[in-house]
Order: sequence, then C-alpha cells, then structure tokens
Amino acid sequence: MDEPRKKDDPLLATDLHVEATYRLTEALVQAENRMRRRIELLSEVIFETDATGALVFLNPAWEKVVGRPVGESLGSPVSRFVPQEDWPTLTAAMTGGGVSPSVGQSQIRLIRSDGRTVWAAILATPMPDGGVVGTLRDITGVRRYQRELEAAKESAERMAVTAQAANRAKSEFLATMSHEIRTPLNGIMGMAELLVDSPLPSKQRQYAEIVHVSGKALLSVINDILDYSKIEAGMLATETLPFDLHTVLEQASELLRPRALEKGVGFGLSYAEGMPRRFLGDAGRIRQVILNLTGNAIKFTEKGRVSVVASCVERGKGDALIRMAVEDTGIGIPDHLQSRLFEKFFQADSSTTRRYGGTGLGLAICKRLAALMGGDIGVESKVGQGSTFWVTLRLPIDPAEATAAGGAAEESAREAAEAARCRVLLVEDNPTNQFLAEEYLRRIGCAVVVARNGHDAVRLAAGRDFDVILMDCHLPGLDGFGATAQIRRQEAGRGRIPIVALTANAMPGDRERCLAAGMDDYLGKPISLQELTRCIRRVTGEKRPVG
Ligand code: ADP
Repeated sequence: MDEPRKKDDPLLATDLHVEATYRLTEALVQAENRMRRRIELLSEVIFETDATGALVFLNPAWEKVVGRPVGESLGSPVSRFVPQEDWPTLTAAMTGGGVSPSVGQSQIRLIRSDGRTVWAAILATPMPDGGVVGTLRDITGVRRYQRELEAAKESAERMAVTAQAANRAKSEFLATMSHEIRTPLNGIMGMAELLVDSPLPSKQRQYAEIVHVSGKALLSVINDILDYSKIEAGMLATETLPFDLHTVLEQASELLRPRALEKGVGFGLSYAEGMPRRFLGDAGRIRQVILNLTGNAIKFTEKGRVSVVASCVERGKGDALIRMAVEDTGIGIPDHLQSRLFEKFFQADSSTTRRYGGTGLGLAICKRLAALMGGDIGVESKVGQGSTFWVTLRLPIDPAEATAAGGAAEESAREAAEAARCRVLLVEDNPTNQFLAEEYLRRIGCAVVVARNGHDAVRLAAGRDFDVILMDCHLPGLDGFGATAQIRRQEAGRGRIPIVALTANAMPGDRERCLAAGMDDYLGKPISLQELTRCIRRVTGEKRPVG
C-alpha cells in the first residue's frame, strides 16, 4: 500500500512544476493566438521596424491598405512606400516628434501597388532597442469628406458673398428708383395738397382729393419697399439722439387721429403719469413703428376705439424699459396666424387685403426696426374683439430730463412763432419743388428768397440776410454740397447760417454726408409742412430771427 507522499517529497515537487509549466505555456499560447487574431482582424496597419529602419512586422491590414503582400514588404524601410514629399513628416512621426496637437496624428501618403496613393494617419513610438512600433490608419475617406465639406463651405461662402452683393445692388437700385419716383411724386403730392386746400368746385375737389390720397398710398408703398430692402441689405442704421417720446407719440397720433374720427372710431393717447419724457434714441424710427401699428389699428377697426398707450415697465438708473401699445377694438386675428404676422408679405386674410389695401411689409419692418433698436414686438388678439400690438424698448434717459419737465408746453407754443419770423434762402432748381416749398414757407410766415443754382446761393448767402438756408443737394453745376462748402468758407470768422439739406435721397449715410459737408440738418423729400416748421425751429434754436 502506497504511503501518502509528504509535502516536501522532491518527486511531488517536480510533477507539480511540470504541470504548472505546461498550463502556463498553454495559457501563453492561447493568449498569443487571441492577440494574433485581433491583430489580424484589425483594420489599422500595425508595423514594427528594427534599429536599421527595416520592416520586421506587418499585420494583414497592410495588404488591404496598400495592396502589397506582407511577405514582399518586410525587410524594406517604410519610406519605400511613402512619396518623397512626405518623408519629413514620416521621419518626424517615426522619431516621436511628429504628432500635431491639433490633429493628434501626422498624415502621410502610402503608395499602393497600383500606383495610387492613400492617405494614412501615422502614430509611432520609438522602442528602447532602436526599432519603432506604430499604426497606420487609412483616412482617405475622411480626408475626402473633409475636402468636400471645405468645398461646400467655400461655395456657400462664395454664394453668401454673391447674395450679399446682389442684395446690395438690389437695394441701391431700389434707392435710386425711389429717388427718381419720389422727386416727381413730391411735386404731385404737394400740388394736390395745395389744390385740396384752395377753393374749388366740389367735383374738382373730389378729383384733387383722389389724386392726393392715391399719391399718399403710392408713397407709402415706395417707402415700405425701400425700407425693407435697406433693412435686408443691412444698410439701415439707427441713430441715438435726444428726443421727447411724448411729443413723438403726440405727433404720430395727431397725424392719424383724423383718419380714425373720419371712420367714426374713437382715438386716444395715454402717456403714463410720472414716466420720463426725454430719452436718447431714434425718434424717427419709433415714430415709424407707432405710425405703422396705429395705421393698421385704424385700418382694421370699424367701430369702437383705437388707443396708443405708453407706460414704463421698469425704471433703471439711467434708463427705462418702455412699452408702447396700440390697442384696437377691430376685427382681431386668429391665434394660429398671430405668430406669422411679422413675416414679410404676410397678410392674415386676402379678402381684408383687397378691402383695406397694404403690402404686408409694415409689421415685418416694425419687427426689424424694433430688433435694430434692441427691443421687442408682439401681439395679443381675439377675433371679433380686437388686437393689441406692443413694442418694448429699453432706452437711456436723456440727462436733460430733469431740467426739461414743464418746458414742453411752452415749447410747442413757441415753435410756430419762431419759424414765422424766419428769413429763408431756398436753393432749389426743380420749379415744382421750388413752388411747393415756397408755398409752405410763406404759409408759415417766412420771408423767402429763391436761388436756382449753387452759384446764386453762394452769392446771395454772402449778403448774410438769412436765418436759414434750405439747400437742395442735387443742383446743376455747383451742387448743394459744393455750395455749402463755399458758403462755410466765405463766412469764416463771422456768424454761421444754419443750412438744411433737402433731398429725395434716402440712403443711409446721406445724413452724415450732409452734416460732413457743413450742413446742420436734413429734410427728406417729400417735405411736410409740419416737419419743415419743426426743422426751421430746430436749426434756428433760441435765436429770434427778424421777419
Ligand atoms: P399691411 O397692413 O400692409 O397688409 P402689415 O405687415 O402691416 O401689412 O400687416 C400684415 C397683416 O396683419 C395685415 O394684412 C392684417 O391681416 C394683419 N393685421 C395687422 N394689424 C392688424 C390689426 N390691428 N387688426 C387686425 N389685423 C391686423
């Protein structure tokens, strides 16, 4: 009977050692097989070179990527398969210094057996024995995709530049056209206005009124299209000047009140008590937005009331968030259409359009103007009950606000009187416009002298009998800018006569150009009696002209 072996029996120790070695070897072989299979299945090339740079190992992916049998390639340096231009990159990668931080890997080309090249990302690590191990990943597809992406981006950029240029050209064309259309329209409107105001048999009065109303409608369409195209082309700039918000809303309301009353619709303006009046901003643009919203409210309201309501939502240290709302009791707008109203050319209902007219651009312009001024616009409405269109703007409060309180009432009373004492030099070559401006000026009590060209203007201004010069910019020979420059030169050292540019040009930068030429203000044509009066008052200031 065998004795059980003791633990320290040397024979038992040998058996165990053999068994352990066998198991270990088997495990190692299995591990190596697994590793080899993985390496063989990899789509990335794995390579190894010896200290002389010759390839000593390549996995089967090599054959797939470069189309050469592994056996044939071993023993050659990697550079044999790389075009000479890429050798510096290859060397840098193989010595461990070629990794670009942005890409993460260097990129080289590999020459395939058929002569074509493929792009590969190379990642290599030098070994202590002087050899190198590394990987090569085929990135031809990625690079093609990148190139396509870049080409698409470039072409999109080129298209954007072309579109921008086309947009600018369109806008310039429209501005030029509008100038050309506005000049004669100015004459038509002005004459119609004078005709309507003169004693006429009723039939003729009716004709004159139709001419006047149609002219106004045409002018508003031209203005809408021009404004919208300028905004689209990024050519519309807003200005930041002191203004009285209450006065702006009052003027806008006064302009439209008759239209509401004519329809039998009530009209009101409410300006929250204690709210600041004087702000810094673009009065003209605010007025335009309010006129548009109020015009619409009156247009779409048959009975009830339209109210313009201004309130202060929040008062900061030097600014205030103001809300201007136009409320009406009109036809209202269905919920699902409300968000689309601010799109260009959108009209809620074509039957109302036929009835009320319009271009569908008004609200799109308002939205863009509000955005340009850093504000917001929106609508609340119920069909059959009415709508409230609102605009919120954060405006800096004019530092003069504190001293301005109380002065406003006096101001408007003074306005007409001051303009009335003016001596005006009117420089205008177009006989119709000349006649119209002269009529307006006489009507507000100004004494008018007319110059028909720039040279006459310079000569007459030298007499220094004028409180203000109204200067058309486009004159034959010496134009308004040149004449202004000469007048400014000849009055050097003496008092300065305010010069107001009169122009039908409506391009951004015109105002700046006029001011740079030495003019003091700018009146866009067609001029209105009210704007003319205010402008004369503005430029003559507190001075009391003789008249
Ligand atoms: P337009 O009035 O020239 O057609 P707008 O952009 O100013 O263009 O207005 C777009 C549309 O919004 C109008 O056609 C009308 O359908 C609707 N709308 C605007 N304001 C009102 C309002 N106060 N009440 C009802 N509908 C309105």
